[in-house]
Amino acid sequence: MDRRTLLAGLGAMAAGPALAQEAPKWPSPVIDMHFHMRAAPALNVAHQRGAGITAANLLARGSVADVAALQAQDPKLFPCWFGSTDVTKPEAAALLTQAVKSGAKGFGELKYPVAADGPEMRRIYDLAAELNVPVLIHFQEIGQPAAPGGYNTGIKRFGAMLKAYPKTKFIAHADAFWANISADYHEQEAYPTGPIVPGGVSDKLLADYPNLFADTSANSANNALSRDAAFTKNFLKRHQDKLHFGSDCNCEDGKGGGAAQNSDRVAPRMRGKCVARETLTLLAGATTADVFRKIAWSNAHRLLGLAT
Ligand SMILES: [Zn+2]
Ligand SMILES: [Zn+2]
Repeated sequence: MDRRTLLAGLGAMAAGPALAQEAPKWPSPVIDMHFHMRAAPALNVAHQRGAGITAANLLARGSVADVAALQAQDPKLFPCWFGSTDVTKPEAAALLTQAVKSGAKGFGELKYPVAADGPEMRRIYDLAAELNVPVLIHFQEIGQPAAPGGYNTGIKRFGAMLKAYPKTKFIAHADAFWANISADYHEQEAYPTGPIVPGGVSDKLLADYPNLFADTSANSANNALSRDAAFTKNFLKRHQDKLHFGSDCNCEDGKGGGAAQNSDRVAPRMRGKCVARETLTLLAGATTADVFRKIAWSNAHRLLGLAT
């Protein structure tokens, strides 16, 4: 052992138990509806345990066998999953149908460079209605370091889709949805700050269409819900039956650790932090225990038809 290794080892011993963060306790059990599966199986468990999360909806990557292995290992922690595929490919509908036949409870997330009211997504909306599963959509108009370009563009026109596909259940997510909770948003930046101007497009869509839901995942939702405490309290109260918790966190341990959550591809305000912890803290502070339970637990179970 050289000197550097020895010192690093001693440092780790000193810092270990003394500085270890306890998993937080939330006002109710929590299901993370926006959890991208990690390549290393153990990291899927580590994130939930570290952030005090009861269960996670796996946004699948790789094969159905990988999902099945995790579910078999811990069925309570991983009660459900969504399947996704490139919607621009002709075989998309067949692959998504197969995913549902294999047990997927929804489609998503769908994040491809198409218009949200274009032909590629319209056929997905038809299929989702036919198979009775929700569609999780990433709405983005402005390019970002980790995701250049636009995805499911045209949220300001999306009311027409909600009207045209009343049997399809839509779950909205990402910066264009959350920036549009303020009526003064004109696609000037991905994560606007400052007080919310009431009457934003997203807020109206949630109020007007029973088939629209939203997850509170990622920096986009955390940023939007951090802008204006009075507005947030009221927004969560008004849409308490339409929102569900999601993290979309890149950290490895439920504590903000790991290279991915500490890279310059992550919004500076979230770097080195666990998005799940940050947003659950925000929700716990801005809602009653009853409303927290709906957003963190029961709404998702109802939407996916899971037993609570
Ligand atoms: Zn996304
Ligand atoms: Zn995290």
